[in-house]
Amino acid sequence: MRIKLWAFLLPLLVLLPSASMADGLPDLGEASQANLTPAMEKRIGESIMRDIRLHEPSFMEDPEISGYLNRLGSRLVAQSTAIGQGFEFFLLKDATINAFAMPGGYIGVHTGLILAAQSESELSSVLAHEISHVTQRHLARQVGLQSQSQLPMLLSLAVAILAARSHSDVAAGAMMAGQAAGIQHQLSYSRDFERESDRVGLQLLERSGFDVRAMASFFLRLQKSSRLYDNKAPSYLLTHPLTTERIADIENRIQDLPYKQVPDALEFLMVRAKIQASEGTPADAVAEFAAQVRDHKFINEIAARYGLAIAQWRAKNYAGAEQELEELRRRHVSSAMLEGLAAELCMGRKDAAGALKILRLAMVRYPQERGLAYAQVEALLALGQTQEALRVTVDDLQIYPSDLRMYGLQAKTYATLGKRLLQHRALSEVYALQGQLLAAIEQLQLAQKAGDGDFYEHSTVDSRLRELKQRQAQEAKEAKENKQRLSQRPLL
Ligand SMILES: [Zn+2]
Repeated sequence: MRIKLWAFLLPLLVLLPSASMADGLPDLGEASQANLTPAMEKRIGESIMRDIRLHEPSFMEDPEISGYLNRLGSRLVAQSTAIGQGFEFFLLKDATINAFAMPGGYIGVHTGLILAAQSESELSSVLAHEISHVTQRHLARQVGLQSQSQLPMLLSLAVAILAARSHSDVAAGAMMAGQAAGIQHQLSYSRDFERESDRVGLQLLERSGFDVRAMASFFLRLQKSSRLYDNKAPSYLLTHPLTTERIADIENRIQDLPYKQVPDALEFLMVRAKIQASEGTPADAVAEFAAQVRDHKFINEIAARYGLAIAQWRAKNYAGAEQELEELRRRHVSSAMLEGLAAELCMGRKDAAGALKILRLAMVRYPQERGLAYAQVEALLALGQTQEALRVTVDDLQIYPSDLRMYGLQAKTYATLGKRLLQHRALSEVYALQGQLLAAIEQLQLAQKAGDGDFYEHSTVDSRLRELKQRQAQEAKEAKENKQRLSQRPLL
């Protein structure tokens, strides 16, 4: 049994008076400060997000699905009042139906939710609801209702607990102590906040051109399925308590709005097919999608054939996958996901030249697709065009300076070129972006001792090292202060 993230927040404090957990926390401001400022929320969110990337096994790095999710999310955010607030939507490979908002605009989405949504409008309605929890600052307001003065400490402890959850039995202990229900209770938003998120979320849905009826229909379906499964309500309903009254409220709001049929974007259907085709054994996935295609049991034939191609690719049946792609090409389907798969198939057949050709053309049409950019570097490396691979990473990192995956590819490229200083320099950026300052500093020290590099390269390493050491000193100071605060004011 696993409870997600926020589930560890407030109530665990009672169980956890240890101050030693406060190491490495961000500075959350004066302990006496009662309000959770947006800047504090951002730092807490960043810190938790970093931990998720490093330690959460279900965290899923799929640039195609994440790219889609973020485009969909941005479309909704653009209709909100969140001017200047950055949002990041991320994916967890988890079959339960859930999505959750963390402070600072980080919104986690389970693959189970994407599969359960029967239309893009349904998926959007949940995203819009989550976005609204953030823009309406429900977290700050909720915590504000509880214990004003201890707020910064509460949150710093929460971060520590989250950081510790994968290598400590604290969380497990709390669960066994029968706290789960209580935790869940305190975590769920109040009815007023839920209603407010529905209301604001509906506005976002409408303004973004989605079907506003989808919110009520999706919530109703969730509610029905929770009755079906007895106690096992979809986890979404636990953190966002759903009442008949709430659904009635949504229905009241939409009854005067004109009926609008919104077709699903092909990308939505392909994303669902990709998730579904990636589950279970490759053989099962092939059988499932082959049956869909054969019996015409699909919502969309293109998505079904794409799912079959993914399944065949997983089963290493490249010819079978290619056959589906050919079928889709004959229908003039235009999709970055299709090009990405076509390139993968070439790579699978050791045809890096073929992959590169596909990727170059695709990147002209879909310049923002990160998956294509990574694949292009991999193809160049496989072809031995290392200088060209390097040029691509350098150009790309100028546009996407916080892309740690691209830094990783750059480090690999430098390694192939035998440039050791630069290899360690690039690796240090990977660690720095992961929030692992010690490891980043260590890489820069290795770069200094690498024995190659010119004067200019050495001086950039030196200055970056000074920067990171300063940042490290600052963080150590903040952690010490937090620790003192915690020991001065025992909780309970
Ligand atoms: Zn909610």
